[in-house]
Amino acid sequence: MRIAEISLPAVRHNVRRIKELSGGQVIVVVKADGYGHGAAIIAQAAMDGGATMLATADLEESLRLREAGVEVPLLCWLHGPRTDFGAAIEHRIELGVNNLAQLDAIAEAARAAGLQATVQLKVDTGLSRNGIQPSDWDVVFARAAELVAEGTISVRGIFSHLANAGADADRAQAANFDEAIALLAAHGVEPEMRHLAASAATLSSPHLHYDTVRIGVAAYGLSPLADKTSAQLGLVPAMTLKSEIVALRGVPAGTGVSYGYNHVCETATTLALVPMGYADGMPRALNGSGAWVTVAGEHRPIVGRIGMDQFIVDVGPLAGRLELGEPVVLFGDPERGAPPVEIWAGLMRTINYEIIVGIGPRVLRVPV
Ligand code: PLP
Repeated sequence: MRIAEISLPAVRHNVRRIKELSGGQVIVVVKADGYGHGAAIIAQAAMDGGATMLATADLEESLRLREAGVEVPLLCWLHGPRTDFGAAIEHRIELGVNNLAQLDAIAEAARAAGLQATVQLKVDTGLSRNGIQPSDWDVVFARAAELVAEGTISVRGIFSHLANAGADADRAQAANFDEAIALLAAHGVEPEMRHLAASAATLSSPHLHYDTVRIGVAAYGLSPLADKTSAQLGLVPAMTLKSEIVALRGVPAGTGVSYGYNHVCETATTLALVPMGYADGMPRALNGSGAWVTVAGEHRPIVGRIGMDQFIVDVGPLAGRLELGEPVVLFGDPERGAPPVEIWAGLMRTINYEIIVGIGPRVLRVPV
């Protein structure tokens, strides 16, 4: 049993909380299969929580949602030279525009399909990653205005992404964003959605909310801020990663555990085998780091090297109380006794995002 329970009430709560906080529209980002939670599972809960639309990075991710029967408004923004804009238009998927060539290709695909394409202009305000470069704003906005006038496209939004490089950088990016909005308006185009803030800015910088925010990690109940927990932000972690004990063995003091014997039991104890490993997204380097799981409500240490499919927990003090099938919680909502995912992220010197998107395909996502 390898299970990621996905709490739909938690997702609804988180989206509702962000909507109340921002006072505007909310786009929920479901790229990377809903940050590892299962995009199709998240979709309806996010909309029920008050989201206006969902977004993915690639068109393929949005098309997969359509194939799964998800009919809600979708936006995607990361395109390659062979992206099939015609498929996007047929499936009513809104397209982020990052340059003039993309805008022209989208217009051509719209004409070929005999349908109007809906686009959102993605402007680079200082992340230097994607989006229309400032030197191209005027020419792209002028072309967008022409295409709107001829009915080939409609422009529903203008957006940008922050570098999260501090307050001064945020202010500079917001000033650039304001300039882009004004320039687009000067071309006669005033989209209904303007969005700059992802989770971190949504939770920490109300002046960056504009009329829409575009959140990923907060919808899943995790904190994007190093100095704030989910609970402090009023968020509820949606994913509980769980497995079960499939073998128990008593061992004498001095027993070496798992590959390389880098854990040797100091005293006689009981070891529990749990069928989850690095193929499932447990970082192998957690080994020996002090990571723990919850068994029968107690914190118990992971011991020995983590394998591809299995790891071992020292359950010594609980031995008489455990049976095969006993649930083991790897991470989840600390308010309900689970280890927070941030422990693994901290031990691995990474961010909670990387852990949740890394949970592997063998782990069954179960909505609860
Ligand atoms: N917008 C864009 C363009 C992104 O690439 C991402 C994620 O990286 C998000 C929004 C959501 O970010 P977060 O999960 O920090 O809210």
